[in-house]
Amino acid sequence: MAEFELIDLIRARATHARDDVLLGIGDDAAVLHVPAGRELVVAMDTLNAGVHFPAGTAPADIGWKALAVNLSDLAAMGAEPAWCTLSLSLPEGDAAWVAAFLDGFMALAARHRVALVGGDTTRGPLSISVTVHGFVAPGAALRRDGARVGDGVWVSGTLGDAAAALAQWRARGAIGRIDAALRARLDRPLPRIALGRALAGLAHACLDVSDGLLADLGHVCAASGVGAEIDIDGLPASAALHAAFAGDALRALQAGGGDDYELCFTAVPSADDAIHAAAGATGVAVARIGTIVAGARVTAHSAGKPWLAPRSGHVHFGD
Ligand code: ADP
Ligand code: MG
Repeated sequence: MAEFELIDLIRARATHARDDVLLGIGDDAAVLHVPAGRELVVAMDTLNAGVHFPAGTAPADIGWKALAVNLSDLAAMGAEPAWCTLSLSLPEGDAAWVAAFLDGFMALAARHRVALVGGDTTRGPLSISVTVHGFVAPGAALRRDGARVGDGVWVSGTLGDAAAALAQWRARGAIGRIDAALRARLDRPLPRIALGRALAGLAHACLDVSDGLLADLGHVCAASGVGAEIDIDGLPASAALHAAFAGDALRALQAGGGDDYELCFTAVPSADDAIHAAAGATGVAVARIGTIVAGARVTAHSAGKPWLAPRSGHVHFGD
């Protein structure tokens, strides 16, 4: 199928119109109305085949994930999503692949009222870039540089499932052999938009966990000029993770595994009740996992003793 036919196919599916889209797909550029008195927040992320998703991932899951990882960045800023653009590099003009991709992409877009307002379609190795745009109240964006000594360190949801899915994929050799609950976390991450918005004004610093908790928390500490102490035994884990892994392997997945797209944030201890209330209202569990301290290092403890990660951060498979 020719490029313009693929664009027609995409345009026909990009139906989640918003009043603030003055001109969407079809012209040389989109024209968008930024609401008075709000700041525009912009993020972009690329997914490459074999690096950011295993070969054999269903196109609908790739579509979901391409938007999800971007919306997760807006969530981490406390922003309300509005618009996105989509750059598709495809090895061939496969209309069925694009239709299935859009099933996943548009399902998540509809859930968060995000309008697809433009993009680019080219021939090349399979690669998907998405840009998302959202809004925050002036000065209210949740940044990485606001953590203060004495803050509690928090994380949403559970950690380690996506990394566990990748570990099973490597060990078992096929995507179909991954435990279903773990694979769902890898393929269909849930951007914590409502929680991020509820934390604006409450949290001092926030980011989404894409590279691994300890590595990502290190970014908050570096930006804020502080250190952190983490209780490894207090990290939240799903039942599916407990069923598949135990001991140090489980702890390593929680502390170092990426791709969970949970939020990690810090807040003054007097805000504990407000944070539990905000999380409760958005239906997302949160757990306090540590404390911001003076210094520059992230240290972890298990059973009262220092805990060293077998491997820190997230290494993409296929590298
Ligand atoms: P141009 O040559 O002016 O860049 P294109 O042929 O690339 O125009 O795109 C035509 C229209 O289709 C533009 O409005 C563009 O934003 C939109 N478009 C192209 N590819 C995509 C895509 N993958 N997703 C969404 N919109 C797209
Ligand atoms: Mg173009």
